[in-house]
Amino acid sequence: MHFTVLTLFPELFPPFWEHGIIRRAIDGGLVTATADNIRDHAAGRHRVTDDRPYGGGCGMVMKPEPLAGAIRAARRRCPGARTILMSPQGRPFDQALAAALTACDGLILVCGRYEGVDERVCVDLVDEEISIGDYVLTGGEVAAMIVVDAVTRLLPGALGGADSAAEDSFAGQRLEHAQYTRPPVFEGQPVPEVLLSGDHAAIRRWRQESALIRTFLKRRDLLWERPLDAGEVAVLKRWCAEIEALIAAQDLPGPGAPPGGQQGR
Ligand code: SAH
Repeated sequence: MHFTVLTLFPELFPPFWEHGIIRRAIDGGLVTATADNIRDHAAGRHRVTDDRPYGGGCGMVMKPEPLAGAIRAARRRCPGARTILMSPQGRPFDQALAAALTACDGLILVCGRYEGVDERVCVDLVDEEISIGDYVLTGGEVAAMIVVDAVTRLLPGALGGADSAAEDSFAGQRLEHAQYTRPPVFEGQPVPEVLLSGDHAAIRRWRQESALIRTFLKRRDLLWERPLDAGEVAVLKRWCAEIEALIAAQDLPGPGAPPGGQQGR
């Protein structure tokens, strides 16, 4: 995978490439990553990259010519690459989109600044616009790093264990199970006993249940978006039965306001 970031601030990127999983992916030849300065494609002594918006208004807009030049130069180097504009108006970035992008030969990630880029660049030279969330950043660089990071860790071989990414949150529309490491007791809280048992089948079952219940508690919307499998239904029924038994054991009064102190829970 070839990542080319087009930016007015290329110096932000080396610290990002040079650490952790991304660095390992580069060293291992899985990924190449460069950050090109859009200003190198600007004309004139001052290499101006922005101008005032037609129609008036505050802020500046990125001029189309330097952007077009930078995108075309990047495409010449990697003809199969997909050109993506980082934009708050783009398709929301998620794990499924990250996984889909791993199929590309390369990604050219265009970072806007100021009030954004001249619309004619979006129309002619950009394959897709991607947003990292419903908020507005000062520039696309952090957004581009997020895309590079999420895509890289899904490339086969990028993470140590073969299955690490398959177990991650959002793979399979659920969150990952709870994680623990040593010590066995931290500030009075023990690690669930099953994880110390060495019984791999029991650990797998515990993790599946942990993932399901955490998803139910934290991100129920994910479960409503897909069919549950028989094992998951069985787990939820068991929890449901236990919750009902717990309620029944309280011998609560019938419908109506509970006795004092119970409101708002
Ligand atoms: N005026 C524009 C926002 C410009 S923000 C608007 O209201 O739509 C400047 C640049 O930051 C954008 O061109 C884009 O490249 C980047 N950016 C800002 N928010 C972003 C987001 N949520 N996702 C991806 N890129 C973003």
